[in-house]
Parts: sequence; C-alpha cells; structure tokens
Amino acid sequence: MNRAGRVAVVGGGWAGMAAAVTLAQAGAAATVYEAGRTLGGRARRTTLDGIDLDNGQHILIGAYRETLRLLREVGVDSRVALLRMPLALEIAGRFRLSTVRLPAPIHVAAGLLGARGLALRDRLRVIGFMRAMRACGYRLAEDVAVPALLAEHRQLGAPTELIWEPLCVAALNTPIAVASAQVFLNVLRDSLGADRESSDLLLPQTDLSALLPEPAARYVEARRGRVLLGQRVGAVVQSADGLQIGGETYGAALVACAPREAARLLEASGLIPETCATLKRMTFEPIYTCYLQYDATVALPRPMLGLREGLLQWVFDRGALGGPRGLIAAVVSARGEHEELMHGAFAEAAHREIARVIPGLPAPRWSRVIAERRATFSCVPHLARPGHATDVPRLFLAGDYTASDYPATLEGAVRSGVAAARLAIDSTARLY
Ligand SMILES: Cc1cc2nc3c(=O)[nH]c(=O)nc-3n(C[C@H](O)[C@H](O)[C@H](O)COP(=O)(O)OP(=O)(O)OC[C@H]3O[C@@H](n4cnc5c(N)ncnc54)[C@H](O)[C@@H]3O)c2cc1C
Repeated sequence: MNRAGRVAVVGGGWAGMAAAVTLAQAGAAATVYEAGRTLGGRARRTTLDGIDLDNGQHILIGAYRETLRLLREVGVDSRVALLRMPLALEIAGRFRLSTVRLPAPIHVAAGLLGARGLALRDRLRVIGFMRAMRACGYRLAEDVAVPALLAEHRQLGAPTELIWEPLCVAALNTPIAVASAQVFLNVLRDSLGADRESSDLLLPQTDLSALLPEPAARYVEARRGRVLLGQRVGAVVQSADGLQIGGETYGAALVACAPREAARLLEASGLIPETCATLKRMTFEPIYTCYLQYDATVALPRPMLGLREGLLQWVFDRGALGGPRGLIAAVVSARGEHEELMHGAFAEAAHREIARVIPGLPAPRWSRVIAERRATFSCVPHLARPGHATDVPRLFLAGDYTASDYPATLEGAVRSGVAAARLAIDSTARLY
C-alpha cells in the first residue's frame, strides 16, 4: 500500500480508537501508537488486588449516539455491555427524581412533578426553567457561569442544590460556580431536553477497556491495521514524503493524546506552537475514586446513589454492575478540600458516609483511592478549544478537548476521533 492509505494515530484512548475504527472502515491502514500497556486512556481497566477495575467510574447516557453507533460497529451489544436505567437523581434520604417512561418532553415534567424532597413551588420553577430553555433553543446570547443563568431564572436554593449542581458537576466535572452555562445547556438539550431514551443512564457492566477500546483494536487489526502498545511517540516529523513517526512514513497522522501530552509531543516536534500554547493554558479538574471491598453480602439499595452530606457525591455498587459482590466505588468529582486528604483518611471518610446508607456496615476488607488529578479540562465560559485541522498539512488533532459543544466526555472523545479521521481520509484521498 502507498503512504496515502497509511494513517498513524497517536494515542489509544477513546478518541484514538474511534479514529482508528473510522479509518479502518474507510479502507485506510491505521496504526495506533499507545504509550500505555492497556488501551482506553482515561477510561481504561486497571488492576487492583488482582481484580480488574476501572481507573474511574464512567456513566454514559442515551444521548451518546456516536459512542453507541461505534459499539455496534465493532460488534459490542450495548444491551448486554451497558445497564440502561431511566435517569434517576437520588440523594440518599433527601431527594428522589426519576424520569418517567412517557413520551418526551412529558417524561421530564412528569418526573419533576413526582419528585420527592422538593417543594411543589420549586418543582414548578424547574419545569418553567426547562420550558424557557427549550423556547430559546438552549442557546445563550453570551456564555456565563452556571449560577448567573440559574439566578436569572429563579433556580437558586433547593433546585440548584438538589438538581442543577449535581447534574452540572457530573456532566462538566467543573465546580458550578465557574462552569460554562452554554455547555451545560448543550448537555441538557441532548439529554433531558430530548427524547426519553436520551436521558437514560447507561452504566458499564464490563471494564472500560473491554467495553470499546479492545473490541475496536480487534476490528482495526482485522482490517489491515496495527495497534501497538507500550509505544510512546517522541516526535512527529514532517518530511517531503509525509509525516514520520517511529521511523515509518504516513500519509496523515492524528494526535489523539490528552491536552498536556499533545502539547508536549507537538512542542518536541516543533509543530503548531500557537496550538501548543492554547493547550498549555487549559486548566484541569480532578476525579477521585475510592474502591472499598466489603463482604459479599453488602449491597447498595440501587446500583448508583447520590450522597450530599459530606465528602462523597456518588456511590456505585460494582457488584450490581458485573463486578465482585460487595465492591463499592465512591466518587468525588472536581476540585475541592478532599484533595488535601491522605488516601487513608479519604477511604475512612468514604466508609463512614457509606455506613449512613447501609446500617450495620462492617469495615471494608481493603480500600484503594485512585486520584486522577487531570481527569478533564475545566469547562469554563469562553474556553479556547482547538479544531481538528492544524496548520501542518494532513496532521489532525483528536481528543475530548477539541472544539465541540460538549464537555470532556467519552462521547466528546469519540465524536472528535470520528471527525478527525474523516478529515484525514479526505486529505489523503487528495494526495494523488
Ligand atoms: C475518573 C474519570 C471519570 C470520568 N467519568 C466520565 C463519565 O462518567 N462519563 C464520561 O462521558 N466521561 C467521563 N470521563 C471523561 C472521559 O474519560 C474522557 O473524556 C475520555 O476518556 C478522553 O478520551 P481521549 O481519547 O480524548 O483522551 P485520553 O483518554 O487521555 O487518551 C489519550 C491516550 O494517549 C496516550 N498517549 C499520550 N501521549 C502519548 C504519546 N506520546 N505516544 C503514544 N500514546 C500517547 C495515553 O496513554 C492515552 O491512552 C471521566 C474521566 C475520568 C478520568
């Protein structure tokens, strides 16, 4: 095959693997270079105490259409791999809201009317807000921080505390005080504002590498592609023949690394300095996950539960999601005081808070904290996000941070990979 049909993808996260599948589907020979030993990047399997777990809990929603399409393409049955449940926002002992299996948009209004723990006046205000946002097409004339939008629509107080803040932090992984109202509205538009399936929660019942990246690798390898693990790319070299990576020449290349790593690679390559500067200006938010292994008899009342009285935001019953019985994952998103805690103190606090919802909870057999300090970019108003095309011919960027109306999510990563791969295919088709 000539170099035109050969495309390199640097990074085997969800963006890189989505790109590789798209390339393979179009008949290009894709080579994925992944620095790590496991595919999936920030959404991957890791091994703790001999058990395969995820580096962090991931929730998908029904609106993740490109991700669901890609799963189908690589042969994954999402009805088996994902547990689908109607959106339920439950804060233990205080509040419960679930969408109702009725046609859109009544499903949300009916769910809100039936919400427990929120005064009728507040429920009507929330319905009014959703109606107002629908009327303006979920578009703001000027982006602002989320509280400014909520204050304008009389949502402060219980609606913010019980509904908007948990949803905003879960979707944007950014403290509500500084989060982009426009991006939040984009997510609302495609979830609560769309058909009822779009707002469904989809919880992985397999580890994250096995969910998409590994089936994607098999798909690519079956179509003349290569997936190389443990291969950190140090430079992309522009030559008269094309783009060189690891001594091989490609018709096009996609850099599908997280922002800092993309900037490091491109700077070392002496390419697109302005884009590197934009990437280096991005700030990041952490996500902490604490796994606690209890006796096999221990279970949460539901697979996923919100907590708001202390440190934890969400707890997941991994035993109910295809994992070992008695394994609970506790999650804290975005920056906060918890970052000051030593891991042991974090795990003890997590245990105490879980004990409030499971009376008589025994001590865990073991616990581990995974701190992803740069889990996602801070999704603030007016954030500069680079596009897929670059000033270098046939060099493209993919990743959850690239320009899009979504926050840093699996769907954002997949969409970016698909879009960048399509540009690469078009660019190499024009080579001869
Ligand atoms: C703890 C946690 C929880 C999250 N929860 C959710 C959630 O509930 N729902 C949701 O939708 N999203 C969630 N996210 C966000 C989601 O994981 C990311 O948006 C997505 O995985 C980003 O994918 P990516 O491919 O753009 O980047 P990455 O996953 O960062 O992939 C980049 C890859 O490039 C590789 N790489 C870097 N440099 C090089 C190099 N020089 N050579 C070769 N390879 C290189 C890296 O090893 C990595 O595998 C969460 C993230 C975290 C960390």
